[in-house]
Amino acid sequence: GGQGNVRVLVRARPFLQREIDAECKCLLSMDQSLGTTTLYRPDDIDFSDDGVSDLGTPLSRRVRDAKEFAFDESMWSVDRMTKNTQFVDQDLLYDKVGREFLDHSFEGYHTCMLAYGQTGAGKSYTMNGTDREPGLIPRTCYDLFQRIEKMTTATMTFTVKISYFEIYNEHVYDLLLPVTTDPPTPLKVRESPVDGPYVKDLTTHSVRSYAEVEKYLMLGNKQRATAATNMNATSSRSHAVFTLALKKIESDPIIDETTEETNSRIRFVDLAGSERANSTGATGTRLREGANINKSLTTLGRVISILAESALGSKKRDVVPYRDSTLTWLLKDNLGGNSKTAMIACISPCDYEETLSTLRYASQAKHIRTRAVVNQDFIS
Ligand code: ADP
Ligand code: MG
Repeated sequence: GGQGNVRVLVRARPFLQREIDAECKCLLSMDQSLGTTTLYRPDDIDFSDDGVSDLGTPLSRRVRDAKEFAFDESMWSVDRMTKNTQFVDQDLLYDKVGREFLDHSFEGYHTCMLAYGQTGAGKSYTMNGTDREPGLIPRTCYDLFQRIEKMTTATMTFTVKISYFEIYNEHVYDLLLPVTTDPPTPLKVRESPVDGPYVKDLTTHSVRSYAEVEKYLMLGNKQRATAATNMNATSSRSHAVFTLALKKIESDPIIDETTEETNSRIRFVDLAGSERANSTGATGTRLREGANINKSLTTLGRVISILAESALGSKKRDVVPYRDSTLTWLLKDNLGGNSKTAMIACISPCDYEETLSTLRYASQAKHIRTRAVVNQDFIS
């Protein structure tokens, strides 16, 4: 059935060089069989313990104020030497969440994967990855065309279309169109009675191979970085939304004027950094930017908490404020509607306040229920 909760996964990234240089200590541990992540206060860890790994993975006996959270998966990507943990590289990440979501797409469900977390926590690494260590998006696209090749027959064919946009300061920009105006022209968000909210004039591109998608992805990611520089910002301030539209066309070999179409949308969202604006000492443009990010992310937070409360059966029946931000309006279906949705909360191993806030946010998302349906039409 299509009823189900949003799947929530947590991924802790490795130490960055500057954190190793600063001798930062690991404040996390995970029990992967239970899906739990535990966060320790920096001053709660007894680092004198001989059993501590080189990076200071806490094996502390003092767990006075440890905070434990349970998720569908807790994914350890901090180091390969911590005992009793399996290191989650990009391959294993795809095993845990990517492949199954692609199965759903071929069944005809809309899917959505969101990466949440502070800047530098590993959202883009998880979604896009690097040339040598591709993330969920390239792996899904690669697998998609492998499957299409295997499944295509005289009576079953597939088409794939892609689009890529970003939301910056509540405005939508096409990432697959070169910027020709200064400042760039935002696109309008409209609502169709059938398909709900959509971006007007967003370009969509038919793709027939992984190589073609890769070209567009590179273009889009470059545009995201360039656009940010031109607007005197950083790409960590925008939400990037990559969408694949998969259409399966089956014709009946006997009654050959009967065709069955299955349409599914696969969506990947690399959210803006969740760190609070006032913690960055921002002023002017940056502050306004921060306020607008907060508008989208705080609205996302409110949407999540209202959906979570109603799923938990609380009496309060608040209107879900999808319309209060561009992000939540465009993701309406993926949040509490017709979609199978996963959130990957990305965390740093050594930032107590930000990690705590990300884990709390992610905990709420666990309660959201969506009602995915197979999107099938019969055309005769
Ligand atoms: P974000 O998009 O959340 O701002 P990034 O994905 O850019 O963060 O990650 C910050 C840095 O950490 C990058 O250099 C990235 O390559 C690295 N990194 C993040 N997650 C991982 C991981 N799981 N394994 C290896 N390196 C990672
Ligand atoms: Mg990023």
